[in-house]
Order: sequence, then C-alpha cells, then structure tokens
Amino acid sequence: MKILVAEDESTPALFLRRTLERLGHDVVVALDGMKAWELLQQGELRLVITDWMMPGLDGLELCRKIRGQGDSAYTYIILLTAREGLQDRLAGLNAGADDFLSKPTDPAELAARVAIAGRIVAMQEELERKNLQLAELATTDGLTGLKNRRCFNENLITACSFAVRYGYPLSLVMIDVDHFKSLNDSFGHPAGDSVLATLAGILRSETRDHDIVARYGGEEFAILLPATAAAEASLLAERLRSLTTSYPWPQRPITVSVGVATTGGDLATWSELLEAADRALYHSKRSGRDRITHHDSFTQDVVSHSTCDSLKA
Ligand code: GH3
Ligand code: MG
Ligand code: MG
Ligand code: MG
Repeated sequence: MKILVAEDESTPALFLRRTLERLGHDVVVALDGMKAWELLQQGELRLVITDWMMPGLDGLELCRKIRGQGDSAYTYIILLTAREGLQDRLAGLNAGADDFLSKPTDPAELAARVAIAGRIVAMQEELERKNLQLAELATTDGLTGLKNRRCFNENLITACSFAVRYGYPLSLVMIDVDHFKSLNDSFGHPAGDSVLATLAGILRSETRDHDIVARYGGEEFAILLPATAAAEASLLAERLRSLTTSYPWPQRPITVSVGVATTGGDLATWSELLEAADRALYHSKRSGRDRITHHDSFTQDVVSHSTCDSLKA
C-alpha cells in the first residue's frame, strides 16, 4: 500500500519509513503538514500516518482539512501522539482521526494498525468500484451499451435549458426501426436483438463523443446533438438512414424512419422538442418509411399521438 508519513522530526520519520518499507509498503514522507496536504491533493494516497505536533499545519488541522474535502475518496488517518490523555484522544477523534499510535512507536503495533487500515481502505475502494459500476449500469442499456431512456431524458432537460439560455441550437433525432415486429416474427427475437446492437454501433460510430446516443425504447433510438443546427442535424440523420439501409444485414434489409427537431422558433422546452421530433418521425412513417423528416420542413399532420409505436403499416 502507498502510505504518507507526515513527521517533522527526522529520526521517527526514518524509523517509520524503514519499518513500513520492510513490511512491503510504498512510503512517501512529508516533513510538515502543509507538504503532506499538497501530496494528498494528488489523490493516490489513501493512508496517512501523521504526527500531531508539526510546524505550520499540525496533525489535527491536517485531519480536519482531509475530512473537509467532501465526497472525495476516503483517507484513513492514524495520528501519532506522545499524549495519552482522554481529552487529547477525543480531540484527535473529533478532528477526524481513525486510529492512534503512541510515540515512540512499537514496530509490531505499527504493523498491526497499518494492517487494519489496509483492510478498511481495501473495503472502501471495493465499495467505490461497485458504486461506479452501479452508476454505469443505471445509465446504460444492457443490450446495446448505449445510454438508457432515463439518462437520455436527464441529459435532454439539462441540454435544452442550456441551449435556450445561451442561444445555441440543440437538435434531437428520433429513430425507429421499420417493421421490426415482422423481423422478430420471421427470424426470432435473438436475431432482432442482434440487429438492435449492430444499429446501436452504427449510431455511436457516426456521432461525436459529446452527442448523447440512447436506446429510447424497444426499437427506438434517440440522439441529442448539442450546438447543432437544423441543416447539420438533418444531414447526420440522412447519413444514419442511408448507412442503415445499405448495411449488409444478415437476415433481410433493415430500414429506419427518422424524425428531427431543433430548438428555436416555437420549440423552447425539452418536452416541445421531444414532441416535435416524435411528430416528424410519425410523418416519416406515414410518408412511406426509410426516410427522414425535419420538424421545420413539413406541414404537420393533424393527428394527436404520444408515440409512433402504435402506428401500423
Ligand atoms: P413500424 O415500422 O411502424 O415502427 O413497425 P414496427 O413493427 O417496428 O413497430 P411495432 O411497434 O409494431 O413493433 C415494435 C417491435 O419491436 C415489437 C417488439 O417485439 C420489438 N422489440 C421491442 N424491444 C425489443 C428487443 O429488445 N428485442 C427484440 N428482438 N425486439 C424488440
Ligand atoms: Mg512533531
Ligand atoms: Mg418500429
Ligand atoms: Mg417503435
């Protein structure tokens, strides 16, 4: 484990370094509290063994600064002290220390307390890894690896208020696979799944890193294009449509219908943008599928609907 030793006196500092290195640890020594704090900012050190009395920033202040960092990774702190009194120990605990070691330090006790710290830090790191995985899972669609609908909607809301506030165009592309049900019926659900995964790959590879590409529903995808005006969004939509149509699908040709909408004019909120893209997609379906429609460029169908999924051939 990588350990930070904060100790202003050279003899105990050397003793700690040698003992810890003999135990197989990687040791960094800081000769005062401020230096220790600077080293901690680099973010790799999860265990600190700190002296109490140091010039500048003392051990208690260092503890408080570490605990005051908010939600960054947990740092385990062992406070070195020649003080034995209850009041001193309480002051150390209240400042955020996890454990104490008396000075002069016994090597066996040092080894035992560092082993405890190692277990706690390892558990903490495991927890952080799991949390990251969970956060990833909560925003990802399992079949395609794209963002899921919930994550997309969150991004849409933020991106839309940003775009309207700062006057950038924001475009939304909705894509629905044509006659997908019949593909499932003829070739089976796994074949359908593999079409969705391949299509997701096409969408991801043709968009920029900061575009949000999501699986919006069963065979429906949504792409959020920040700082992208109507013409550019339509070009991308057309490229995606054409790539889908020309892809060598193993079962049978696959086509998509696409609806595009861009903020501006009467579209100012995320829900208006979403409805407009949906209406444009509906228009593409009604006009024969395998085509794109931008919301700005068609006379709107006098149909009230919430989703194109109910639309049949
Ligand atoms: P349209 O051109 O009007 O969009 O016709 P469609 O058949 O694509 O539309 P419909 O809404 O009737 O059917 C969508 C189909 O998508 C039905 C459903 O079984 C299928 N589907 C939804 N999610 C999945 C999935 O995860 N995997 C597979 N294989 N199929 C799915
Ligand atoms: Mg000291
Ligand atoms: Mg469909
Ligand atoms: Mg659909």
